[in-house]
Amino acid sequence: MLTAIAAVVGLAVGSFLGTLALRLPRGLPVVGGRSVCPHCGHRLTAPELVPLASWFLQRGRCRACGARLSIFYPAIELAAALVAAICINLSPAAWGVLACLAGWAALAVLARVVVGARTL
Ligand SMILES: [Zn+2]
Repeated sequence: MLTAIAAVVGLAVGSFLGTLALRLPRGLPVVGGRSVCPHCGHRLTAPELVPLASWFLQRGRCRACGARLSIFYPAIELAAALVAAICINLSPAAWGVLACLAGWAALAVLARVVVGARTL
């Protein structure tokens, strides 16, 4: 049960890490700015913001313009969920939480490198 909760938290953290990686280099607000389709500017609704699930339910495409959305979005959310699940599974105590935070930090750096290397 703890692993499942950690994975769900990891999905949300992964979504935030993706937002950080995309917005910080462009000088966009990390908190408060609405998420939009990078192709048409469509403001994403709540069902379109559910980590991992919305990308798969929409088959990787924007609901408004039909443009293909990068695999980066579900990949970073899934990676953060796996980091959380594995770390909490290895140690549900403080060490597991610290390992999880370190893993997410490493994931943020990796995401920044990926975003810097290509256009999403
Ligand atoms: Zn769109």
